[in-house]
Amino acid sequence: MKTILVTGGAGFIGSHLCERLLSHGYRVICFDNFDPFYDLNLKIRNVEEITKKFPETFSLVTGDIRNRDHLKETFQKERIDLVFHLAAKAGVRPSLLEPQLYEEVNVRGTIFLLETCRVFGVKKFIFASSSSVYGESNRVPFSEEDLDLRPISPYGVTKRAGELLCYCYHHLYQIEVACLRIFTAYGPRQRPEMAIYKFTALVDQGEEIPVYGDGSSQRDYTYIDDLIDGMIAVLDHHQGFEIYNLGESRMTSLRELIRLIEEALGKKAKIQRLDPQKGDVSMTYADIQKAKQRLGYQPKVPIEEGIERFVRWYKGSMH
Ligand code: NAD
Repeated sequence: MKTILVTGGAGFIGSHLCERLLSHGYRVICFDNFDPFYDLNLKIRNVEEITKKFPETFSLVTGDIRNRDHLKETFQKERIDLVFHLAAKAGVRPSLLEPQLYEEVNVRGTIFLLETCRVFGVKKFIFASSSSVYGESNRVPFSEEDLDLRPISPYGVTKRAGELLCYCYHHLYQIEVACLRIFTAYGPRQRPEMAIYKFTALVDQGEEIPVYGDGSSQRDYTYIDDLIDGMIAVLDHHQGFEIYNLGESRMTSLRELIRLIEEALGKKAKIQRLDPQKGDVSMTYADIQKAKQRLGYQPKVPIEEGIERFVRWYKGSMH
């Protein structure tokens, strides 16, 4: 049985990934420091749910990727075959307030993890990158072939730095690496500070939702199950060093997103208009041809259905 280390496995995407890996018969070690970026209870609940379903093959290490000794100890104790590296300070806007912290966790933490892989001979590494590496590019849809990348937030820069470090370790030490550029993931367990969750909660409570800009900004949203399908496909189809976009390859405006949330909740949104935020890009749009061809990736849940599913989960989790 193969053992997979999932850093950030207690979080939104990581917890879904752990569950899927476990259901495919892998042994999974979740390495997470329960960062207080959002309500810790949500992460504790995620881990409890997984432990209940897979008591034999799931284990948790509470640790920080900035602690090299703890990483070393973990790799010494377990024979790790592959690493899914998701632990990070996530989110664009907070990265403008604490750029140094983003550098520490997302860049230095990634170096420590890659170094530990090198020392312990781990030859497969999958890195959660982000659409934010594309910055304000107007070459749409965004393609992995585009090398002229200019991220416009410290968060985006740290993710691009992570990709470059991965490439370097692949080149120097023949570690096989896939960097997955994730386009706004959403679904059950989503981070509560992300727009879909935040708007749903505020509209449900009859409170105003803060809308930055005129609502015309557009995002490519990826339903969590589709994203996990793509992440898992990498295990079977990937070799060498590659970057893959994982999105729905469709743009939805903020205005349309709010309408879908209103419809799913059966409530009207009260909108508070605010100036556009620095660091936010005006659009994201994934070219997913490469992931389709090489990984067999095929997103199945359109935003209309995904929002309905999310709102159903949200209502269930509130009671
Ligand atoms: P999340 O915050 O729910 O998960 C990140 C996890 O990492 C958390 O459980 C947190 O406790 C852990 N963590 C943070 N700092 C750590 C540290 N120093 N040591 C160990 N663990 C640490 O976020 P998410 O939305 O699930 O994102 C997962 C990954 O995917 C991140 O790398 C993020 O940058 C990337 N990503 C997410 C999205 C998205 O739409 N959610 C889009 C692009 C990229």
